Amino acid sequence: MTDAEDLAQRVRDGELRLYELEEHADAGTATQARRRLLAAETGVDLDAVGDYAFDAADAEANIENMIGAAQIPMGVVGPLPIDGSAADGEHYLPLATTEGALVASVNRGVGTIREAGGATVRVLKSGMTRAPVFRVEDVAEAGAVAAWVRENVPTLAEAAERTTNHGEVQDVTPYVVGDNVFLRFAYDTKDAMGMNMATIATEAACEVVEAETPADLVALSGNLCSDKKPAAINAIEGRGRTVAADVLLSHEQVEERLGTTTEAIAEANTRKNLVGSAKAGALGFNAHAANVVAAAFLATGQDAAQVVEGSNTITTVDAREDGLYASVTLSSLEVGTVGGGTTLPTQAEGLDVIGYAGGGDPGGHNADALAEVIAGGVLAGELSLLAALASRHLSSAHEDLGR
Ligand code: NAP
Repeated sequence: MTDAEDLAQRVRDGELRLYELEEHADAGTATQARRRLLAAETGVDLDAVGDYAFDAADAEANIENMIGAAQIPMGVVGPLPIDGSAADGEHYLPLATTEGALVASVNRGVGTIREAGGATVRVLKSGMTRAPVFRVEDVAEAGAVAAWVRENVPTLAEAAERTTNHGEVQDVTPYVVGDNVFLRFAYDTKDAMGMNMATIATEAACEVVEAETPADLVALSGNLCSDKKPAAINAIEGRGRTVAADVLLSHEQVEERLGTTTEAIAEANTRKNLVGSAKAGALGFNAHAANVVAAAFLATGQDAAQVVEGSNTITTVDAREDGLYASVTLSSLEVGTVGGGTTLPTQAEGLDVIGYAGGGDPGGHNADALAEVIAGGVLAGELSLLAALASRHLSSAHEDLGR
């Protein structure tokens, strides 16, 4: 077997390219050879990057030009009792982050929710979208193509579903802008986040559109999907899972656990999350939903770039006679328990800790349950940060824990 130094030398000699090393050695050796080359070029020894606990071959579907692993500290919050449509009972939620004070803060929220009996959570809608863009001659042709698509959704669904054992077409919605026709395909992707699945299936359907209409495909993704970019369509229509969580805390629980009052938290929410976000032109009206979404995504092998969509969250707080009612509604939480990064060893353990790794029964159950546990964590994070702001403890908590 070729060793790392031989491999590195063949790259230096121009015989091999950096991305071809796995064709000539096992994945671990290829990774080591790349580290040697990079270390020589940059003077950085890469000892920490090269010190990882899984077989490089396990990551071959997830990374190219692998040199090692970025390690992020992982903490845990919980147990969080969830009454969900899929998740049930108590769950720990692992969070991977470098932000000191985040886990402690979310855990304070979790403890408060636990004392109140837990969070009620529901997945309200589920569908992964892909929206190709087609070129047509003019608006008359655009109208005709859109009409043909509306009448032929079953034909398109048949072509799309031939590419997948799990995915099902829910809808194909045409949007016209001048001589552009966008077709927003929505899929039930079961336990997969579904972006690869939806893309492959949509390509097959596009071939039918091109064969049966004058439309020419320009790009398989026309940005009306809309993936990994802030977009109102996701905040309004949803993408991935639309999931909502709520809790009713007694006034005493607010005072004892969160060190402030119901009224102060409600006022902070209105002035900050609602008025401030409106003035800022934000898509998400929340305190820091992305914090919990990002940390949970990193811990469980989700696509980190989709934290953008996870931040499309509205937080509400009502000061009621019988206590503080708080809710979070995440319009577009894109999660899976199969595929993507979910099978990498630490991420798979993260999912196992929550209790929902792999395919669910019925299909989609596990990804729904994961979405519900993350939404419960977001609710906890919102309550704790709003309480810290309301009681003016935010900077002292960060000074004590994060510096
Ligand atoms: P994937 O890893 O590409 O595929 C997952 C596959 O698992 C499904 O296609 C399905 O195969 C199979 N599967 C087995 N059990 C299943 C179950 N219970 N439910 C659903 N599927 C099941 O993952 P993906 O979720 O489609 O895509 C996620 C990946 O896409 C991530 O790595 C992400 O970073 C990447 N991504 C891609 C794009 C893109 O444009 N292509 C964009 C953003 C992100 P069958 O289809 O044969 O049933």
